[in-house]
Amino acid sequence: MTNPPPPPSALELFYMTEDQLEELPLPRYHDLTGQVFSRLTVLSYEGRASHDSIWLCRCSCGKEKKVRYSGLTRGSTTSCGCYRAEVHAKRRERPEGHQRTNKNPLCRIYYSMLTRCYNERNPSYRNYGAKGVEVCQRWRDSFDAFVDDMGPYPAGTRLARLNPSIDFTPDNCFWRNPPIP
Ligand SMILES: [Zn+2]
Repeated sequence: MTNPPPPPSALELFYMTEDQLEELPLPRYHDLTGQVFSRLTVLSYEGRASHDSIWLCRCSCGKEKKVRYSGLTRGSTTSCGCYRAEVHAKRRERPEGHQRTNKNPLCRIYYSMLTRCYNERNPSYRNYGAKGVEVCQRWRDSFDAFVDDMGPYPAGTRLARLNPSIDFTPDNCFWRNPPIP
């Protein structure tokens, strides 16, 4: 296969008509047929989509899927979608309190604690990280350890420290009820 001409610049593409776009050489810098990208094996060339090309792939789960050249070669498409579905299913399977989702209050509180202590761009950082308040190594390393020490979450409470001038540690943290209005 001969080398294709260099691809047009973004500006050149912007000024091209639909017909000119159709006549562009395909960006098949390599014939991908037979190549394997994670779970996907490329079966055949399928056609083009603007300045990308489309490849028919078979996933290791048996499903066929049309994928863009750029998705395959950049590694952003690695399966027919089954991999992502498995990851999500695994997350939901985790024991009560350990799910890493926004719906789990322990998960939200955990990340908010880390953010306040370590993200200088967070507005609350000045009251925590900037004053030297840290999260203990055990919790920094593991959300599961945080849940083991502090879970289950008592609904409506907030994570508080007995001594507000020292770090977030199992000994120094407790769940505080909101003040009665
Ligand atoms: Zn699949």
